[in-house]
Amino acid sequence: MSTLQTDVLVVGAGPAGSAAAAWAARLGLDTLLIDAARFPRDKTCGDGLTPRAIAELDRLGLSDWLRSHTVNQGLRAHGFGQVLELRWPEGAFPTWGSAVPRTEFDDHLRTLAVSNGATAIDGARAVDVRIEAGRVAAVSFEGPQGRFEVACQRLVVADGVRSPLGKLLGRTWHRETVYAVAGRSYVTSERSDDPWISSHLELNDEDGENLPGYGWIFPLGNGLVNLGAGSLATAQRPADVAIKPLMHTYADRIRDDFRLTGDLQQPASALLPMGGAVSGVSGPNWALIGDAAACVNPLNGEGIDYGLETGRLVAELLAASHPRARIGAAWQGILYAHYGEAFSIARRLAELVTIPGLLPTLGPLGMRSRFLMTLALRWMGNLVDDADRDAAARIWKLAGRASVKLDQRRPFH
Ligand SMILES: Cc1cc2nc3c(=O)[nH]c(=O)nc-3n(C[C@H](O)[C@H](O)[C@H](O)COP(=O)(O)OP(=O)(O)OC[C@H]3O[C@@H](n4cnc5c(N)ncnc54)[C@H](O)[C@@H]3O)c2cc1C
Repeated sequence: MSTLQTDVLVVGAGPAGSAAAAWAARLGLDTLLIDAARFPRDKTCGDGLTPRAIAELDRLGLSDWLRSHTVNQGLRAHGFGQVLELRWPEGAFPTWGSAVPRTEFDDHLRTLAVSNGATAIDGARAVDVRIEAGRVAAVSFEGPQGRFEVACQRLVVADGVRSPLGKLLGRTWHRETVYAVAGRSYVTSERSDDPWISSHLELNDEDGENLPGYGWIFPLGNGLVNLGAGSLATAQRPADVAIKPLMHTYADRIRDDFRLTGDLQQPASALLPMGGAVSGVSGPNWALIGDAAACVNPLNGEGIDYGLETGRLVAELLAASHPRARIGAAWQGILYAHYGEAFSIARRLAELVTIPGLLPTLGPLGMRSRFLMTLALRWMGNLVDDADRDAAARIWKLAGRASVKLDQRRPFH
């Protein structure tokens, strides 16, 4: 078996892994990025990039590239007989969003990592780890070229929602915390250039049963919209929902409004652990990032932004540490410091939504008030940064601080 060597090995070249590799290479670290898939590859996703993601992509120097795709100015919320157009809030984040199909987006990010100095291999699946003195000494891969091993000083695990490599290292997903079941498809639409993303807060299945979740239309500006739906669930209240039929029902309902001109293309669905509902996020020389660490916002299901952020944060930690230093406690602390309070309150609120009847009762009240919905957009998007000092930001931070005190299991623990 042949052996390669690197300082930083990043497994998984989604947004999290490619961002980690790009930053690690920029910071001067010897970096190898390996993915099981061959790029370009698809990934089941809404393709939506909210201001939080735009901020991170701007840091990577991708604003101009993004602006050559679609640009949106906010969310059009539909539900309970109302339609409200809510601009992205003013604050520490940009005031625009975008949407790029993941086949193109992820390929572009991976190419960026390579142009920043990382070496990339695709089509090779991580299948095993070799541990020596408690540290990951090497990871074994299988690909068309056969089995090979990569010896590394530090390992970044960015292998997505199922995190097979994370599991080998002891990562556990806690399903008693709220999670999502979601699906997406592509549909041709005469409103593919709509400057708003749309969400339908009343989501009904084929039998007209109301579900705790929402449907979305994210215009892609290329003749297509990304049409999807997601429902929230917990181990106590599992989502009894067939996502693909749900997307068909949803598409039929909004077909005329959104001038959909074709059938659903490439429908696909996935489970989504959220809100840091995993333990075992790090060890002496390894760290989980992105979906592998359940870095997904429980209130809107977005995780590209957190993938990009955790990619940068882990690279900064590695660059600041000696290659033989123990980084496990530091990485868990960084995840908790950045996201613990916000994820705690967000998953508490998302769990409330799974209580039957609550959304249909409170939804109409919320949708009657532009003020309340503007606040909801900001909080649901976690568009609150340490630099924000306004009342809405303070309330959100206070709620987060109170929420973690009530947690039986804190995020990332
Ligand atoms: C239906 C749906 C809609 C969504 N919509 C949005 C949205 O609109 N906006 C948003 O921000 N987020 C959205 N999300 C969440 C978003 O898709 C994820 O948070 C994001 O992809 C996380 O990126 P990642 O890099 O952590 O993981 P991924 O993008 O999943 O990348 C993981 C990579 O690891 C590779 N890999 C896996 N196993 C191995 C292995 N053993 N060896 C080597 N490589 C491996 C995979 O091939 C893959 O390329 C949605 C999710 C779903 C399911």
